Amino acid sequence: MKLLGPMVRGVVRYIARANAERLWMHYSIAIFIVFALLFSTHLVNRSIIDRSAIATKTINTISNQVLLGHDIIDFAEAALLENDRYFEVLGDAVEAFEQAHAQIITAEIWSEDLQILYFDADIPLNGRINAFADMAAELPGGSPGVQRTTLNRLKGQYLYDGLKENLLHASDLLQARARTEVDRLSNLQQTLIQASVLLLIVEIFVIFLPAQLIVRSNIRQLRKQGDVLRRSEAKLQDANGQLEHLINHDALTGLPNRAALLSYINKALNDQNTPDLAVLFIGLDGFKSINDTAGHDFGDEVLIAVATTLKSCVDDDHIVARVGGDEFVVITDEAVEVILERVRASLAEPLEIRGRRMPVEMSIGHLELSVGESEPLAVMADAGLALQVAKNLGGGRAQKFHSQLRDEIGSFKELQLELIDAIKNGEIEPWFQPQIRLSDGQLHGAEVLARWRHPKRGLLTPDRFLPAAEQSGLMVDMDHSIWKSAMKYARGWELAQLWRPCISLNAAPATISDPYMIERFLFELQKSGLAADQVVVEVLETTLIEGKDDMAAINIDSLAECGIALELDDFGTGYASLSKLTQLPLSGIKLDRSLVAPLPDHSADSVVRAILALTTELGLHVVAEGVEEDAQARHLSSRGCAFGQGYGYAKPMPPDEFATWLQRHAGRTVLAG
Ligand code: C2E
Ligand code: CA
Ligand code: CA
Repeated sequence: MKLLGPMVRGVVRYIARANAERLWMHYSIAIFIVFALLFSTHLVNRSIIDRSAIATKTINTISNQVLLGHDIIDFAEAALLENDRYFEVLGDAVEAFEQAHAQIITAEIWSEDLQILYFDADIPLNGRINAFADMAAELPGGSPGVQRTTLNRLKGQYLYDGLKENLLHASDLLQARARTEVDRLSNLQQTLIQASVLLLIVEIFVIFLPAQLIVRSNIRQLRKQGDVLRRSEAKLQDANGQLEHLINHDALTGLPNRAALLSYINKALNDQNTPDLAVLFIGLDGFKSINDTAGHDFGDEVLIAVATTLKSCVDDDHIVARVGGDEFVVITDEAVEVILERVRASLAEPLEIRGRRMPVEMSIGHLELSVGESEPLAVMADAGLALQVAKNLGGGRAQKFHSQLRDEIGSFKELQLELIDAIKNGEIEPWFQPQIRLSDGQLHGAEVLARWRHPKRGLLTPDRFLPAAEQSGLMVDMDHSIWKSAMKYARGWELAQLWRPCISLNAAPATISDPYMIERFLFELQKSGLAADQVVVEVLETTLIEGKDDMAAINIDSLAECGIALELDDFGTGYASLSKLTQLPLSGIKLDRSLVAPLPDHSADSVVRAILALTTELGLHVVAEGVEEDAQARHLSSRGCAFGQGYGYAKPMPPDEFATWLQRHAGRTVLAG
């Protein structure tokens, strides 16, 4: 009983583990076991039947023995009535004989005891009875007469015939009953076997086979479904992967996006093993104007190229993410100065886009991140703030974050708000800086430069307020306001016969790309009363990116067609492709201060000479900026530079001061220094 539990559990486990496809094997084993059971039952039955037959035979034999025994006893009684000597011996023999008989009758059919009684050499019953018969024959009383009588009685068998007959008959009956029992058992067994076989056949055809077929078809179906499921799962995993990629990556550049960056920062901040990190928040300067003038497709290509370049600055363990239109974030465990330098160097050379060399300027806000000290959004906000300040300072700079920057940003925002009224109220004034013809020192023209006479902050130079104007989209209005005012002053000096003016007006990229620029400009010019040859428009090279069909190019062509001279400002600082000089309707260039300042240094001189040779070849005049010393003026003049402008002659002046200057210098030679 103790084993039953584990056995049942074993079978259940076996069935649970059984492979459904091999069910037929289990069925076969089951059938085999049934047959084996039937066969062994048959064998057991057979052995019972055999033993029963043996028993019948034994009883038969013993019956004969009993009869013989009684014959002997009768004979002994008759022969030994007067002789006590042998009575005891006879008693022993009879007792042994009866004991044997009793054992046979009580159905211990052929026990070991019986064998001893019958065949043991020491006490063989037959032997003892025979010996006793021999002794009786030799007895004195055992006269031949007595023997004869007894033998006759024995031979006659009249006394025991009935008994013998009855015993034989009983033996026959026993035998017949045994045979009947055997036949009955055999028949029963046969019927059972037939029923079992029939049952098995029925089971095979009605249960096993259909079950097997159903199982097989189910398995096939399951397999198919499994395949389909596996395929769907693979597709689902694919889709999930794509979705995850989409969620965490920027579609244009393939870089991690803002969400991915935040989780990267979060992980880094919460991992005690993370070293201190440098966070660079990079914004491209003037990207809007690239988009406006060169088109969005071109802008996209610039962003992709910038992304690739930045990616090459960090190893795979670190991150470059795109977090806004033209904003990227770089995080590494290197020192800030190291990564700053690498990023700057990587974008120092213009990018190659559509076969065109495209300079990319950027502002950077940066900070050092210590593990556990902050949280992702605050990090982004701080770095973003530093970037904003870098941009507000005019771009092209890197600004480290510190908490006072918040005040600066506040003041910048305030400035932006004030600027709206300042433009409207004419608080932004045009100042004038003379431009001198180098050959004879005569006044050639004046560049108009903006100044803001701020009621609280005092006099502000363009670097203080131009970024605010650019960022709040006020640049176009501001330019036109200054131009209008400058033209009015110039016309006033003309009418006062102080000077036949020629004024150079600075035009921001946004102003040049404005679709209403020509209309507004011509209207202002006409209204001022100045002639077209009395104004020059200075444009920056970043304005001149795309081909003929963009707004800036159309406006520039229109200006030229109206007879307005165009000069390329800050020449020598950027990467203006020389081909631009021929493609655009320029009348001159303005040589940047950075090239003038080192003169007459030999290497600076060779650059200036090369530029002058080229411009002479192209028929363009050159205005040198930042002329502070007479030696520079003379040097430039000797190299063929036509005009000079700089503190050496005069600083930018407010209109009334410039008018005084005119009175003093008009028609006279002005020397630098
Ligand atoms: P810019 O067009 O290159 O103007 C020349 C700048 O150099 C002026 O600075 C001028 O004051 C300065 N400068 C002239 N001579 C010398 C010199 O000998 N030494 C030194 N160190 N500097 C000299 P400013 O007035 O601060 O203007 C800065 C920039 O702001 C201008 O550079 C121009 O790009 C922009 N800007 C000024 N006014 C306007 C404006 O009305 N509209 C637009 N769109 N931009 C303006
Ligand atoms: Ca200028
Ligand atoms: Ca300039």
